[in-house]
Amino acid sequence: MEPRSHSFYRNSEKSLADTTLQAALSRTTGKFVYARAASVDAYPGFEDVRSEGARIKKETLDALDRHLARFLEEAEKRGAVVHVARDAAEARRIAADIARQEGVTLAVKSKSMVAEEVDLNPALEAAGVEVVESDLGEFIIQLAGEPPSHIIAPAVHKSREQISKLFEQKLSEPYTEEIPELVRMARKHLRAKFLAAGMGISGANFLCADTGSVVLVTNEGNGRMGTILPRVHLAVAGIEKVIPRLADLPIFLRLLPRSATGQAISTYVSILTGTKRQGDPEGPEKLHLLLVDNGRSGILQGKYREILKCIRCGACLNICPVYQSVGGHAYGWVYSGPIGAVLTPLLTGLPEGAPLPNASTLCGACAEVCPVKIPLPKLFLELRADERDQGLKNPAEVFGMKGYAAVMSRAGILEAMERILGVLSRLFFKEGRVTWLPLKLSGWTGKRDFPAPAPVPFRKLWKKHRGIRPWNR
Ligand code: SF4
Repeated sequence: MEPRSHSFYRNSEKSLADTTLQAALSRTTGKFVYARAASVDAYPGFEDVRSEGARIKKETLDALDRHLARFLEEAEKRGAVVHVARDAAEARRIAADIARQEGVTLAVKSKSMVAEEVDLNPALEAAGVEVVESDLGEFIIQLAGEPPSHIIAPAVHKSREQISKLFEQKLSEPYTEEIPELVRMARKHLRAKFLAAGMGISGANFLCADTGSVVLVTNEGNGRMGTILPRVHLAVAGIEKVIPRLADLPIFLRLLPRSATGQAISTYVSILTGTKRQGDPEGPEKLHLLLVDNGRSGILQGKYREILKCIRCGACLNICPVYQSVGGHAYGWVYSGPIGAVLTPLLTGLPEGAPLPNASTLCGACAEVCPVKIPLPKLFLELRADERDQGLKNPAEVFGMKGYAAVMSRAGILEAMERILGVLSRLFFKEGRVTWLPLKLSGWTGKRDFPAPAPVPFRKLWKKHRGIRPWNR
């Protein structure tokens, strides 16, 4: 997918004007936020598990090369073929070569953000492979020809009516708004594909270094069917998905579903270790593991390395007031919300992703819900500073912020400015509220108004009543 993050502001305008999107977003993100809070409240040990998860991720990143080498060795011992791609182009080439060598013409794919990141599907299609998305949300957006708009709920932006129409047009199914009926239709179309596919493609939630296992955490049976029915399984994962030990997994299984959907445990947890052995009733004869770097080892060396702790739960998206308002497509690339606001500029370059770290109110909600304690607001500020240092900020904004800093650090000037602005703002009062401001300042009042300044400024009141407590006046 070609990045369009530089158009974030334009994309956001479109999203804000889309009433169907607004309804779909508030319904789904609200549901996720509520479910997460309820499930965390119901689990008193959550904070301890969160600290342990953050500690294990740090331990992993501190010796990522060692853990990856161990994973590679253990996976190969159990029959897997491990490939390492330095960048997206290499990942595409390796995947297409695997498909050609294995004689695959049909592949069923479960959800994988890194496969989206490297644009896997077009490369496979160019190699003569029909790729069918089998996760329900991904199946819907593949029919619609759209990219995902959420890490765990790719079709979050679609209403049930839109999906019904889509199935009517693309699958020749009768129009219905009954969700179980829509699911049945998708299942009917996918079942035949699962049975005929020569290759199953999956992502990986975790890679266990000491056993060479690929772990999938899902709520749909498609992950299992796609990884054990076809003769070949190709698992694609970013190199940061490795964890040192299988014994660490329960910590993340407590964190991930609670943070993502508010579930105590997801419907399916699959631990896939090696190829089918003699006597096994099912499993792939060939297992290819494609580990993707694509800029991650560079991130690991720098000040943004903590972003590699991410377990892609989507909690930061659901809680973010910016994501809640504009949805995932406005971010212009694969990753959206607060995680996307950091990862996109790091993976696609700051000139492309520069608007995204500014798409935050710095309220801190994302860091509060992050199950592995990534300090997202701190990373936004670092990226904003980099943006300024690289000359990517609008000069008017830099000048304005310098002026703001100069005023805020001098009490006398601040007081004088407050007086002047207090008098000027009276020009824009309407029933005790400021509803309109001229020129660029109209950005503040375009979507909301705010209370008019108090008739007597706080500083004046403070001087008058300093030291006087209300109860001894
Ligand atoms: S940054 Fe944290 S909250 Fe956001 S997706 Fe990653 S793990 Fe989840």
